[in-house]
Amino acid sequence: MKQLSYVFLLLLAISCAEKKPVDRMDDEALQKYADELAHRYIITDGHVDLPERLKGSGFTTDSINSVVKTKEGEFDYERAKKGGLTAPFMSIYIPADYQKNEDYGKGLADSLIGYVNDIVRLLPDKFAHAKNPQEVEANFKAGKISLPMGMENGSPIGTDLKNVKYFYDKGVRYITLTHSKNNHICDSSGDSAKWNGLSPFGIEVVKEMNRVGIMVDISHVDDSTFYQVMKLSKAPCIASHSSARYFAPTVRRDMTDDMIKKLGEKDGVISVNFYTAFVDSATANYQARSFKEIGKIMQEKKLKFFDPEVEKLMTQYKKDHPAPEVDIEVIANHIDHIVKLAGIDHVAFGSDFDGVGGMLPKGLEDPSKYPNLIYRLLKRGYTESDIEKICYKNLFRVWNKVEEVAKVSN
Ligand SMILES: [Zn+2]
Repeated sequence: MKQLSYVFLLLLAISCAEKKPVDRMDDEALQKYADELAHRYIITDGHVDLPERLKGSGFTTDSINSVVKTKEGEFDYERAKKGGLTAPFMSIYIPADYQKNEDYGKGLADSLIGYVNDIVRLLPDKFAHAKNPQEVEANFKAGKISLPMGMENGSPIGTDLKNVKYFYDKGVRYITLTHSKNNHICDSSGDSAKWNGLSPFGIEVVKEMNRVGIMVDISHVDDSTFYQVMKLSKAPCIASHSSARYFAPTVRRDMTDDMIKKLGEKDGVISVNFYTAFVDSATANYQARSFKEIGKIMQEKKLKFFDPEVEKLMTQYKKDHPAPEVDIEVIANHIDHIVKLAGIDHVAFGSDFDGVGGMLPKGLEDPSKYPNLIYRLLKRGYTESDIEKICYKNLFRVWNKVEEVAKVSN
């Protein structure tokens, strides 16, 4: 009798516990469910390079329809809608070259912000600005895609701290401290040590970002910069588009296990980058080889990086030497790894769509494929509440916290 009641209680406990979707659905139902979730919840994407792509194609307001539908790049309204991507952060990307300009690239930043304003102004039924999570939610309810902004490279702040507030007022909600080279704010993962982390001015920039309410983005920075920011920042930080160095040890702009843990401990969030040369070791090596060979030709022909001939060389190289194929599962591996190290509350998506020359995993080629990724996560045993956190809740928590810290310090 005693044994029977024990079995009964055990069965009751099992039936009461929430069964994981993968345990109660067949494959077809799971795929459908993944698609439903992609549309039931907001999906944030920490980094989309649409403004940079528009700049490259000579954007004018006459070509606004290319934002709705295009064969170029990865992001357009139709593909985003299809995949449920509703809050892509528009990257205001300032290449390292602009750091030498008299205005530190501020003019370029203003012009790219102008593109985002044009999109919202000309397509008001499809897109809207979003200055905080509440506005993203309101836009989502109205069926619109939010276009929050993040500035990739703090260079345009120049030497005047007031520019932090200037960019906040223009709608910028995160700033990546630097890009591929050291700047006057900090050391980059793509350069040799200059400041050994933050410069004296960089320390003031991080403080000012905390005060104003701009998220500090540690993607692209050197490890030394990362650790200083972790000590200094009063608010949690983000990696807007970074992956785990564990899978691609030569990629210094990816995060080590220790950095992932640290960012998690400080309540931050890592938005996983989908660029295959950052997430897969063989592709990282392939990319390094291709840059070396193209670099040699550039030197011989005295070509500059932005020369149109360089793009042609790259296209030809890729044709002659196809890149290794990377499956979408690799991105799920990165997410698993980060969850294992930092927990489910510290991971999100940061595709880098429109910024990686089409080098994306099979099954995750553009925003319409977001349900595929959710399906892979469900298959690995993630629950609906886990998916909700990865899609938007984790990033919203950090974003809200950054605003709170700013309110307290003002
Ligand atoms: Zn980047």
